Amino acid sequence: MRYQELSHWLSDLDEPLTPRPGLPGDTDADVAIVGAGYTGLWTAYYLARADPTLRVVVLEREIAGYGASGRNGGWCSALFPTSLPALARRHGPDRALAMQRAMHATVHEVGRVAATEGIDCDWRAGGTVVLARTGAQLDRARAEVAQAHAHGLTDDDLVLLDAAEATARCAADGVRGGTYTPHCATVQPAKLVRGLARAVERRGVRVFERTPVTALRPGAAVTPAGVVRAPVVVRATEGFTPGLPGHRRAVAPVYSLMVATAPLPAETWARIGLADRETFADHRHLIVYGQRTADGRLAFGGRGAPYHYGSRVRPGFDREPRVFAALRRTLGELFPALGPDVPVTHAWGGPLGVARDWAASVGLDRRTGLAWAGGYVGDGVGTSNLAGRTLADLIRGEASDLTALPWVGHRSPRWEPEPLRWLAMNAGLKIMSSADATENRTHRPARRATLFNRFLGH
Ligand SMILES: Cc1cc2nc3c(=O)[nH]c(=O)nc-3n(C[C@H](O)[C@H](O)[C@H](O)COP(=O)(O)OP(=O)(O)OC[C@H]3O[C@@H](n4cnc5c(N)ncnc54)[C@H](O)[C@@H]3O)c2cc1C
Repeated sequence: MRYQELSHWLSDLDEPLTPRPGLPGDTDADVAIVGAGYTGLWTAYYLARADPTLRVVVLEREIAGYGASGRNGGWCSALFPTSLPALARRHGPDRALAMQRAMHATVHEVGRVAATEGIDCDWRAGGTVVLARTGAQLDRARAEVAQAHAHGLTDDDLVLLDAAEATARCAADGVRGGTYTPHCATVQPAKLVRGLARAVERRGVRVFERTPVTALRPGAAVTPAGVVRAPVVVRATEGFTPGLPGHRRAVAPVYSLMVATAPLPAETWARIGLADRETFADHRHLIVYGQRTADGRLAFGGRGAPYHYGSRVRPGFDREPRVFAALRRTLGELFPALGPDVPVTHAWGGPLGVARDWAASVGLDRRTGLAWAGGYVGDGVGTSNLAGRTLADLIRGEASDLTALPWVGHRSPRWEPEPLRWLAMNAGLKIMSSADATENRTHRPARRATLFNRFLGH
């Protein structure tokens, strides 16, 4: 497999992506981690940093960064899949706010570690601007700010922008206002994950690539090359989790797809803005997201690819010409400065993980030694760092502010068996995209999308 073809970010690296050696045979360890994306590697990093004597082994089916961590939109954000009001309803306002503040701090923790470990990942903490381009989107922007402020955040965390302020940051077409948060940095995601793999190896962690784990058991991760025996086994496989025996209904893989333009000329950037390399989106239902890359491209993605029956994950699902065409069209609508033929040079995608209750979680079952983290939906770049720090505390038996956060130990229900899962996921996608089309036409909120969000508990 040519790993470079998996994303613009992986193709942009000046390293050959030669796989590390696989597991040589049966091995003993203190902690076995399955998956070398951000979750697995951050967990390994904080374990090794806290206790250099721990024997930590990471097992990866392909190469570090093969999954979503090498392909994502590069928003290192403080977004958390469960909204602040939903967290407050379930866990009380103080614990909800503590969760959100921990996410804010996480954005800067990622930047700090990247700097100390010499991981040059084009880090830039320019915040996020989310545009409102219809009346319905503007209503949602207002409601989001009011709700955030009612739960203890301030204008320093999330502020409403008028049309001129929003346009000054991101001069898309038809901007009526928006929101801005400083709590986001943009990164080159593959540089981050590949740099992290090298950083953990420098600290004595052993990373074995091309080593598929075929079963997770208390005390063991089983591979065709041998068994890693360890009292703690961490599942860090996110969108690929349904491929593990016994975990088929733990998370549903949902595909997000992206395109990137060629580097744009300075005069185009002068018209578009994003001078601080703010990440950007708008308040539509079916999420889109973008960033101005360090080398002056627009990298832009969105949901909308179908969910595949039986939670299947296949390399062929990464490419969906219909979605790529829609992304290109949307980019052109947002930024007429790109001209009629948006200069797209790369298109790719990958699976992210969604829990049945849309709640990310992290935990360790002390009885079995099995640990997990994930269900981040599309917000795993920052959240996986918080997960890694938290797992390191849990595994080392340290009670801390992190282990007291409300997502720790949360058990999401399993997804429904098929065909219900397939019907619900694809109906949801249809509802969201048709709601956006209605709102573009009428400028009024589409009620079916609000009802669907309520059904999800958002
Ligand atoms: C196109 C796209 C855009 C996104 N944009 C953003 C964004 O801008 N901001 C954001 O916060 N989040 C974003 N996300 C989500 C984010 O990338 C993920 O939440 C995050 O990378 C998850 O990291 P992870 O380590 O848990 O999983 P992954 O990076 O998916 O890693 C899992 C690893 O486990 C390995 N594995 C799986 N099964 C096995 C097995 N049986 N044996 C051994 N190894 C195995 C896989 O090969 C893979 O390397 C995006 C996702 C996608 C797909």
